[in-house]
Amino acid sequence: MAVLISVLVQTPAHSGLGGALHYEHTQGLPVGTLVRVPLGQRETMGVVVSTEDAGSLPEGTQLRAIAGVLEGLTPLHERWVTLIDFAAHYYQRSPGEVALSALPPALRDLDSTQLARRLNKLHAHATSSVDEASPQTTAVRPELTAEQAQAFEQIQTEPGPFLLFGSTGSGKTEVYLRCVEALLEQDDSAQALLMVPEINLTPQLEARVHERLAPRWGSQAIVSMHSGLTPAQRLRSWLSAHSGQARIILGTRMAILASMPHLKLIVVDEEHDPSYKQQEGARYSARDLAVYRGRLDQARVILGSATPSLESWQHSEPAAPGDKPPRYRRVAMPSRIGQGALPQVRRVDMNLQPRQTVFSGVLLDAMRERVRGGEQVLVLLNRRGYSPVLHCRSCGWKSECAHCSAFRVFHKVDRTLRCHHCGLTDRVPRHCPGCGDADLGMLGRGTEMLEEQLAELLTGLTRPDGQAVRIGRIDADSTRLQGALEQQLAQVHAGDVDILVGTQMIAKGHDFRRVGLVAALDPDGALFSSDFRAPERLFALLMQAGGRAGRDAALTRENPSELWVQTFHPQHPLFEALREHDYPAFARQQLEERAQAGMPPFSAQALVRAEARQQEAAQAFLNAAREAGEALLSDMPGHADLGPGEGLTLFAAVPMSLQRVANVERAQMLIESPSRAMLQRFLTQWHPVLHHLRQQHRPVIRWAVDVDPQSI
Ligand code: ADP
Ligand code: ZN
Ligand code: ZN
Repeated sequence: MAVLISVLVQTPAHSGLGGALHYEHTQGLPVGTLVRVPLGQRETMGVVVSTEDAGSLPEGTQLRAIAGVLEGLTPLHERWVTLIDFAAHYYQRSPGEVALSALPPALRDLDSTQLARRLNKLHAHATSSVDEASPQTTAVRPELTAEQAQAFEQIQTEPGPFLLFGSTGSGKTEVYLRCVEALLEQDDSAQALLMVPEINLTPQLEARVHERLAPRWGSQAIVSMHSGLTPAQRLRSWLSAHSGQARIILGTRMAILASMPHLKLIVVDEEHDPSYKQQEGARYSARDLAVYRGRLDQARVILGSATPSLESWQHSEPAAPGDKPPRYRRVAMPSRIGQGALPQVRRVDMNLQPRQTVFSGVLLDAMRERVRGGEQVLVLLNRRGYSPVLHCRSCGWKSECAHCSAFRVFHKVDRTLRCHHCGLTDRVPRHCPGCGDADLGMLGRGTEMLEEQLAELLTGLTRPDGQAVRIGRIDADSTRLQGALEQQLAQVHAGDVDILVGTQMIAKGHDFRRVGLVAALDPDGALFSSDFRAPERLFALLMQAGGRAGRDAALTRENPSELWVQTFHPQHPLFEALREHDYPAFARQQLEERAQAGMPPFSAQALVRAEARQQEAAQAFLNAAREAGEALLSDMPGHADLGPGEGLTLFAAVPMSLQRVANVERAQMLIESPSRAMLQRFLTQWHPVLHHLRQQHRPVIRWAVDVDPQSI
């Protein structure tokens, strides 16, 4: 007697939001079983989501048979299937796509025999290294400060989710580690997930977690999950987490979709970081899924940051007595550990400097003094390369990319013009391609030029040991090679570099010990950006960069560390709040603006993006989608009666701010609603219409929906 099995498979992108495909099998299979099934001409892996009596099918329905079951693997937990289903619906993708992309690619190619071998190896490894761990061993742990102890206590006893609002260096990581320890002690099978935004930050966290937790639970209990692993490593981590052997999972955003059947704690460090949002395929927010998963798995959730996202800040706003409690509990740790005070903020008014000034004299003097005193300096500029634009003074030619609506950047190191969007690279021309003039000029500067200019400006400067000042640079160019970043960071840690020039890469998470001064050279762009989240990002970046300074106790109140900002708008409220290290004041001001304009978190947004060879074609598709959307809305019960701003708004299609990349034109359309539920309802109804419309708009190459977009 055959049964009907519904299976999630990875169907080609945009073949619809359709759920599972139906197959037949000789017997029922548990939800979450991995199977191989025929799909068209090929065979593919799928996940069982339900088993039914085949008798319910219409007479004569032909079903294909399941080709095989992946033996030896415990089925994925039903809650995992629920998580996938939620993520797929919320982010408007097919559940099959989300499910399969959450599995390690190497798993898809294994047969049962190969899988059995992997599992045996994993198990053997576990038993051999188990004597490494011992219940008696306890790593040295610092005594918690009063603030840490109180935060820990609150997290242990209240339900959460928690927003751990702690200054840089307030000891948040220590609190996470204590929570992990407490959990693992209480519960013999419990698993904890620790997430960091960027793969660059995983080695440090790994080192710290191993040092603390491996002596007690063994190193096999700790695994990492991020895109830098080989397929074999990723498979191993995944199997280890799925089998319950891994108790502590460290990872980047992808880890939130891993199978962790005993998950009891989720930590999202630097929860405000945009890297938690996936930027292709299912554009999920790992932070938001963490909160959902925490509820589903009854796991404690800790979101940590010194500069929380305005969404999380708003959700943790303490309620007035009698009101319903906020979504998150806010737990504050305002003080830094030890003597290290937060840096003093100095603003240099660039209006008062000679035109074209790169480093103001006062800043240079301050930098010199730090270096002479044996301290380190960080110089932050968010633009890599030598100069962002090359131009001709005679005819006005500029180094535009032939394929993108962007300029190609001059890289002096290999004398190339490179497009940072499509990669188009050529040797820098000797003569102007427009008029042949030999005199090409540069507009603006990048990190590469800064490094060179600093070397000139600081010639003769020496360190306390009499050696010449050493200047280093860290950005995406300097760290292209595998291991380069670790090596360069090690040099900074070892004190081989006195002044480090870099992009935002140097601002994040690194525990530099001797930094006395951090300088941000050109932050003004974000103040007037068309992206309403730009100020929030800038504030977080500057606070985080400033947080690199003054971690060493030697930098005390007599010689406080400093954060310098060179700006044409020194009185801007953002810098006023920065000066006081007053995130709450900054958040208040931003949230007021957002509330007035009806922007997130006071509304929910989605974007539809479309790409075509012609801008008009991309927009035509979007505008047709808009029209169809308006029609849907007018059929939505009660929608017509809503006042202005109360209902859902479909905006007209516009070119994206980077309009053309690699000869493809890009357009987008914004959808906004004060109610998330209304937006979700609408998107679910609208999506099939979009698929249908796409058939009539052949020139459209790609389109996608981005729910809760990070940048507009
Ligand atoms: P955050 O994650 O908030 O930036 P960390 O947890 O990294 O802060 O702590 C900053 C520094 O202070 C680290 O070097 C850490 O080892 C140290 N530290 C944390 N908690 C304590 C404590 N209770 N006593 C002494 N040192 C601590
Ligand atoms: Zn010219
Ligand atoms: Zn290009």
